[in-house]
Amino acid sequence: TGRGFCTVGDPLRSPRDLPSTVFAPIGSIPDKLRLLKLIASVRRGSVPDLLRRKESSTRARLQNFGFSPRIIERFFQPLFAGIQLDPDLEVSSRRFDVILRMLAVGESAVPADGMGALSKELASGLHEGSVRCNEAVREVTENAVILESGEELTGRAVVVATQGPSASKLLGLPDPGSRPVAAIWFDSTTAPIHNRHILLDGAQSGPMKNLAVLSDVAPSYAPPGKTLCVAAVPGPSALDPHLEDAVRKQLAGWHPQSRTWETIRVDVIPHGQPLQLPPLDPRRSVRLGAGRYVCGDHRDTASIQGALFSGRRAAAAVLADLQSSRTI
Ligand SMILES: Cc1cc2nc3c(=O)[nH]c(=O)nc-3n(C[C@H](O)[C@H](O)[C@H](O)COP(=O)(O)OP(=O)(O)OC[C@H]3O[C@@H](n4cnc5c(N)ncnc54)[C@H](O)[C@@H]3O)c2cc1C
Repeated sequence: TGRGFCTVGDPLRSPRDLPSTVFAPIGSIPDKLRLLKLIASVRRGSVPDLLRRKESSTRARLQNFGFSPRIIERFFQPLFAGIQLDPDLEVSSRRFDVILRMLAVGESAVPADGMGALSKELASGLHEGSVRCNEAVREVTENAVILESGEELTGRAVVVATQGPSASKLLGLPDPGSRPVAAIWFDSTTAPIHNRHILLDGAQSGPMKNLAVLSDVAPSYAPPGKTLCVAAVPGPSALDPHLEDAVRKQLAGWHPQSRTWETIRVDVIPHGQPLQLPPLDPRRSVRLGAGRYVCGDHRDTASIQGALFSGRRAAAAVLADLQSSRTI
């Protein structure tokens, strides 16, 4: 808040956070009651229902719901900047509603073995040798895929499952736009913070919108006795060449001893997610004709869940088309 941190939690799931949440200077009591009402509203009905609701930007959705500028700036902006990579809250309100629902009904977690565990799990059911890694595709032609090495692969169906900008180049589709993000990883063992909550920048004190003590959330992310923190910088500031200096300066205001932290690595991701401005179409076509298909978060909501849904739609389309070509 600019005068220190306060704990804000969902009182339905964490009753002990109720007193601090009620008194947290992030918004008025009516704002907090409105937040409960908003959560109740996004929990109602199905996800497809949410994706059909009247649409605006996230900011307009919050303003129209009656939230004060204070709670938008101190709570929604830093939280959703990190999730939607959207410091200006311009992403479609439909996607915001779905994310808020997921936060309200599910647990936030990371895989103990790192994010790569998800793709390993998906690939584990496939035949040995059917996945080839580190082989970029240069071109998709009428009936083949050409790798950067020049090797040509043919198949009855080609599914392009790259992120949006690559899919647009390979298939000549409109580019879905890019939201950048940077993550700066610190060994914070010399002066650790211990917290399993996400620390939000409610005071707009710099480019870092949140900090997580990842080794407190998932101890397997750091060697025994060490602590690991990650600072998230969503939006265009992620591309600033002086990013690390700016984040260190901001961190020193939060926790002066962070000056002793060692930077482990800086990840700058120019395409973190597609833009997903309104109007959002979360069921964009995955069937392009002539044996070509496309899937990924840019065909659905920009999330792992959206990528998986679109992958399932593409798989169903491939199976249906192969089946019908066999019966003709
Ligand atoms: C820092 C960060 C945090 C995130 N946190 C969350 C979160 O907590 N929850 C959530 O749901 N989502 C999160 N997301 C979003 C989520 O990661 C994406 O929405 C999701 O990974 C999209 O999956 P995808 O399969 O569409 O694309 P990707 O996961 O981007 O996979 C596309 C693959 O295609 C490959 N590729 C690209 N071009 C070529 C080519 N020419 N030839 C061969 N291969 C190619 C790429 O190397 C990549 O492996 C986060 C994103 C970022 C950047």
